[in-house]
Amino acid sequence: MKSNSIALVSGIAPRKKTFGVIVRQGKKTVVIGNGAPVVVQSMTNTATDDVDSTVRQVFELAKAGSELVRLTVNTPEAAAAVPSIREKLDAAGCDVPLVGDFHYNGHLLLTQFPECAKALSKYRINPGNVGQGAKKDAHFADMIAVACQYDKPVRIGVNWGSMDQALLERIRDENAKRDDPWPIQGVMYEALITSAIESADRAVELGLPADHIVLSCKVSQVQDLIAVYRELSNRCSYALHLGLTEAGVGSKGIVASVAALSVLLQEGIGDTIRISLTPEPGEARTREVVVAQELLQTTGLRNFVPLVTSCPGCGRTSSSLFQELATSTQNYLRNQMPEWKERYPGVETMSVAVMGCIVNGPGESRHANIGISLPGNGESPAVPVFEDGQKKKTLRGDNIDKQFQKIILEYVQSHYGVKELTD
Ligand code: SF4
Repeated sequence: MKSNSIALVSGIAPRKKTFGVIVRQGKKTVVIGNGAPVVVQSMTNTATDDVDSTVRQVFELAKAGSELVRLTVNTPEAAAAVPSIREKLDAAGCDVPLVGDFHYNGHLLLTQFPECAKALSKYRINPGNVGQGAKKDAHFADMIAVACQYDKPVRIGVNWGSMDQALLERIRDENAKRDDPWPIQGVMYEALITSAIESADRAVELGLPADHIVLSCKVSQVQDLIAVYRELSNRCSYALHLGLTEAGVGSKGIVASVAALSVLLQEGIGDTIRISLTPEPGEARTREVVVAQELLQTTGLRNFVPLVTSCPGCGRTSSSLFQELATSTQNYLRNQMPEWKERYPGVETMSVAVMGCIVNGPGESRHANIGISLPGNGESPAVPVFEDGQKKKTLRGDNIDKQFQKIILEYVQSHYGVKELTD
């Protein structure tokens, strides 16, 4: 079946055609746009001039699956640290491209620290805070000149928390002259979109090719983000970076981000995503990468890791074994992926089910590549395991999790190895 047939069946709109932006790091390339798989990116929250901490976190984010990692470049010390961060990552075999996030003083840092400008693979420029009046144009031009000099792509990232006030005033004045003025929300949308597109067009006039530009217009409310990006996508062909800014903590941040981004992705809008979660105390920064991957995978856009289908459990589940098995199985699969994705191509599409009792357990398990159905209250303490719809064996006793992981590994080795690829 052709992929566009799958899109018709599943309801996912074809991806909006955008310019393809190539982000380079050494021999590695990451393509954003032009139909390339939607890129997952993330951002560090370490002080960039703390080289060791930043290297450690970039490494963790990359290992979790972040395909680009952004770090703030806010001071001369941070700019001076960037080449060392790059060197240490390279020495550790981590070739994830680094994106420099610039605000206010980016024109100074990029011009005064050429080694930083060279070590970064992409720059983020916020047109809302590059300067006022004539200085704004000059500072913006300085940054674009550096991007042209080193052949680096840029993201022109507009954020409603740091809007270009002069442009906002202009849009407000124009709106006031309309016969039927927009509500204030419409003015805000128009200012965001205009700021992004006018800045991008200006960068093109300054010599930066359109296929070196990614746009974003971030807001913090779901419906605002959907409205803004639909219009932005209608009005231009620049590659688009999606993200709900200041999404929030914990489940609220995840739900809001997914609610907004899934609508846009379903409509074919978006070439790269970042989930801007506020980590809960003690929570790993890598959570935002996991959420981004799971969003893309559960919507059918990409596959990263075999995902576990599990029932919610209910009064028929007799112990915590069911929750523990679902969690340990998903963790096991994710932990194996760095090795498995090299050795067992296609394993990321494997489906695994962990079910709590006989009601839906055997049925759901049969739909997965591998499924396990635990006994509910009053059921025989036998644990059937299914492979590709057929009952494979029955597990008993302790260490059900280890027994199940052994079966999963054997399935992976026999179904996704090199032998299968060369058959
Ligand atoms: S499969 Fe069984 S344990 Fe799971 S939710 Fe359904 S009835 Fe409850």
